Amino acid sequence: MTTVSSATNAIEVLAPMACSRCNIIDGKALAAQVKDDVRRRAAKLASQGRPVRLDAILATNDAGAATYARNQATTCREMGIEYHLQELPATDRFEDIAGRVLLMNADDSIHAIMLHLPLPPGVDTERIQSLIAIEKDVEGVNPANIGNVVYGRRSLVPCTALAVMEMIESTGIKLPGKTCVCVGASNIVGKPVAVLLMRAEATVISTNIHTKNLKDLTRSADVLVSAVGKPGLMTRDCVKSGAVVVDVGISRVKGPDGKDRTVGDVAFDEVCNAVGEQGWVSPVPGGVGPMTVAMLLRNTVDAAER
Ligand code: NAD
Repeated sequence: MTTVSSATNAIEVLAPMACSRCNIIDGKALAAQVKDDVRRRAAKLASQGRPVRLDAILATNDAGAATYARNQATTCREMGIEYHLQELPATDRFEDIAGRVLLMNADDSIHAIMLHLPLPPGVDTERIQSLIAIEKDVEGVNPANIGNVVYGRRSLVPCTALAVMEMIESTGIKLPGKTCVCVGASNIVGKPVAVLLMRAEATVISTNIHTKNLKDLTRSADVLVSAVGKPGLMTRDCVKSGAVVVDVGISRVKGPDGKDRTVGDVAFDEVCNAVGEQGWVSPVPGGVGPMTVAMLLRNTVDAAER
């Protein structure tokens, strides 16, 4: 294995995971590498009397958000990161939540802040996100941090975008001069991925629901990132041989056995065949999802070290 440098850290180029048709970008294996590094760095800070601390606000009765928060607590414990869940009534107003964020900004023992969504009805999520101190904004949701991404300044980058970049770089591809197509252009995934690819001096095409002749564009891609949330959107005729394909989409569908399962935007089997032995595809589940969690942990320890 060789090592490539990324925006904030170094990650090893993966030896291809076994697949008879193409190489698999194994998000779980990459996440395990990142977590080992996070654990080591968190232990070092703790030994210096500076335990790493992540605080999250939960102001919703949404069951999914509560489960996510519980899982996060377990993961942080495993990493040696202190996790404090600040639960607020789901009826709180903007002023209540804003006040809590400002208190957390001022508390030097808290290194990292994240917001579980949704916020209570009527509370402007973007306004709350813009109040999070930029040096504690480990989800990279404060518009000032997004601006720093554009300028290429040292900053906390949105976790999923960072995960996508690490996964692309893990294949060993050299991005300068490569054609990269981002399908989907949301503020939190598609746009920051496009900007990070531009920063890596790739030629970047950003597409959205209004894009004409999408397949003609995606077929030109050396690197294709799909972040839409439409199962089966990317089929065999959307990719060229040898392409690197990163699937960000997450959708729940009924499987042939009638049970719910999680799938991405990419028709995995046929796209693996189409990109062939020189190509790479990330699976769902086991791809961007675990790497996004790992990037939140890495941003947290980065924030504490700074
Ligand atoms: P979003 O709904 O905010 O944005 C979707 C984007 O896709 C928009 O820009 C829209 O114009 C574009 N789009 C819609 N239909 C299209 C089409 N047919 N062709 C081209 N573009 C099209 O979504 P989001 O928040 O960016 O999330 C996208 C997907 O990624 C979702 O499935 C979400 O669950 C998933 N996601 C995964 C992770 C993870 O950690 N794995 C993190 C965030 C989001």
